[in-house]
Amino acid sequence: MLDQALRILKDVFGYDSFRGRQGAIIERVAGGGDALVLMPTGGGKSLCFQVPALLREGLAVVVSPLIALMDDQVATLDELGVAAVALNSTLSAEQQREIAERINRGEIKMLYLAPERLVQPRMLAFLQRLDIALFAIDEAHCVSQWGHDFRPEYLQLGQLAELFPNVPRIALTATADMRTREEIVQRLQLHDAERFLSSFDRPNIFYRIVPKDQPRKQLLAFLAERKGDAGIVYCLSRKKVDEVAAFLSEQGFPALPYHAGLPSDLRAYHQKRFLNEEGLIMVATIAFGMGIDKPNVRFVAHMDLPKSLEAYYQETGRAGRDGLPADAWMAYGLQDVLLLKQMLNNSEGDERHKRLEQHKLDAMLALCEETRCRRQTLLAYFDEEMPKPCGHCDNCIDGVQTWDATEPARQALSAIYRSGQRYGVGHLVDLLLGRDNDKVRGPGHQHLSVFGVGKALSEGEWRSLFRQLVARGLADVDLEGYGGLRLSDSCRPLLRGEVTLQLRRDLKPQHTAKASSSAASQLVRGDEREQWEALRALRRKLAEEHAVPPYVIFPDATLLEMLRSKPGSLAEMARVSGVGARKLERYGEAFLEVLGGNAEAPRVVLDLRHELVSLARAGMTPLQIASQLKCSEKNVYSLLAEAIGRQQLSLEQALDLPEDLLGEIQDAFLDGEGELPPVAEVSGLFVGRAEDGVLYCVRAALQAEFGA
Ligand code: ADP
Ligand code: ZN
Repeated sequence: MLDQALRILKDVFGYDSFRGRQGAIIERVAGGGDALVLMPTGGGKSLCFQVPALLREGLAVVVSPLIALMDDQVATLDELGVAAVALNSTLSAEQQREIAERINRGEIKMLYLAPERLVQPRMLAFLQRLDIALFAIDEAHCVSQWGHDFRPEYLQLGQLAELFPNVPRIALTATADMRTREEIVQRLQLHDAERFLSSFDRPNIFYRIVPKDQPRKQLLAFLAERKGDAGIVYCLSRKKVDEVAAFLSEQGFPALPYHAGLPSDLRAYHQKRFLNEEGLIMVATIAFGMGIDKPNVRFVAHMDLPKSLEAYYQETGRAGRDGLPADAWMAYGLQDVLLLKQMLNNSEGDERHKRLEQHKLDAMLALCEETRCRRQTLLAYFDEEMPKPCGHCDNCIDGVQTWDATEPARQALSAIYRSGQRYGVGHLVDLLLGRDNDKVRGPGHQHLSVFGVGKALSEGEWRSLFRQLVARGLADVDLEGYGGLRLSDSCRPLLRGEVTLQLRRDLKPQHTAKASSSAASQLVRGDEREQWEALRALRRKLAEEHAVPPYVIFPDATLLEMLRSKPGSLAEMARVSGVGARKLERYGEAFLEVLGGNAEAPRVVLDLRHELVSLARAGMTPLQIASQLKCSEKNVYSLLAEAIGRQQLSLEQALDLPEDLLGEIQDAFLDGEGELPPVAEVSGLFVGRAEDGVLYCVRAALQAEFGA
């Protein structure tokens, strides 16, 4: 059985060996047994049901919660030459009937379905008449009411156990915790399932957490070494998302905003662009998350603190699914702590719930102020022990300096106490530094005994100290008032001199900037750049032709291996990991040509298209683009229409049309049920302009919008 599985792995998927426990899982399911698979993002869950699906007779049914995820997998399988379809609500009745017929004829190997569709009585009856190879339940944690992805429809999947007693079921999730695991077993009736637990470590992710100083500048410094990489920047509020996205765009980093306040079609458009284009940055609230299957997200940056380690792990986990080096970067400061504590305090829910949330936040804060290996701490939180420091996080690489802060901490606590436990950090620092200003004089604080006792430390050092006092719970924030600091019970031993306090010394920004590079920015070396870009350009062209995201053609890891191993023949190409039989046949020659350096022709056409999109985005008119690219205006219009159709450009980016004219053309289309209106009938179009071209573009935009 394993031999056969390995052959499929190589022939169809182009891979040489199984990763982690894939082999064992595949054996179990292909042999007819149930399985519960817990594996981190990027661990390779898909193969765990795709290979058994190919090994067994009949139709494999895959339950997945999101249309975007299904479409992605179906496109990927399609490229591999595996007959897969997704049945979802976007299909017409006619298309659905056609799919059903193909299934009846046994032409389909894998069927992707949303859970609510699967459990419809008609669908179940339909499937019961067929030979079913297996059921795969992806994102199985959606059955758990405690998680944030709960989907009530998942609860009904338990009935598969009785309706299809002889069909193996495999449930998969990247959610680690024990409680969710037990819920999956109970609710999906997986009592006989063998459990396959993997480590939740993501070894290719480099973790770095820096004290927030000038966050935008810090972000730019981080991004400077990652130009051209795709990534996600998380912010807490919608407003900040908009601002940071605009800021990055101004600074020359292509960035799009994503949050729940944007119209849903714009959100979908931005998500689509993020998947299909290379090197885009998505600036987002946590509304952007599930359904992001893009494997080559090279970094996740947090401009604000997540509210728990669960959230941090999940969000950073969207980086580097492809297994190549990736970065998780975060800037964190006292304001984050205050804000989150405030939000928590104002949230709904009973005391017990709030206490739980408070504990989660404390664990998050502890990671930020951690002086030992970040990865060890993170995994320990998920009950996984890592024997040695990882050597692949900021603390391991830079080392952490600690200092004895016992005395200054007592001074700080004393300043809080003597000023009446109601002032914020700014005031307290002024006090300690002995600054003689109006704010200090107002309440007469220049007479306090702590006034000016702290001149040995700088303002930055005091702020760092206060932040750590709050993070460690030695001082509390007054949440009713204006965020003033109070003493907490746990600071008493320190005040009484019974314990000492070691704190983390914040590194100077220039130091962190220097050390912030990780392996990710060195994915390709300088001398490899040109060929790397050529390979990516070819991939982009093929992706456009096939209307799939580039990574569906070949993942980055495969391109990288081509770049390094330089196959010179189809036989050598077949040995590259990720090149299966079908892809070899379809794309082998084209990539060999690029590697051999004689593929000028396709690159020219391709670059033209690409340049056109950039120029249009930069605000050039079609006429200007035509002269820049030395081609006819007519040509430019048809390329623009094409780009609009592929949703690479919005109509506004492509053309500067007066609104009433646009309205008139749109009306004409709708009246004509999508037919092109004769140019003469559109009164606002004046002669001398490429009238047809304008119409093509408007039509493309309407079609892209309404999927007509
Ligand atoms: P998950 O669903 O667990 O997040 P995927 O199934 O999407 O992960 O796999 C992540 C990436 O790893 C994909 O690009 C996949 O093709 C690749 N991959 C999976 N298994 C193997 C393997 N045995 N050898 C090489 N690459 C693999
Ligand atoms: Zn480490």
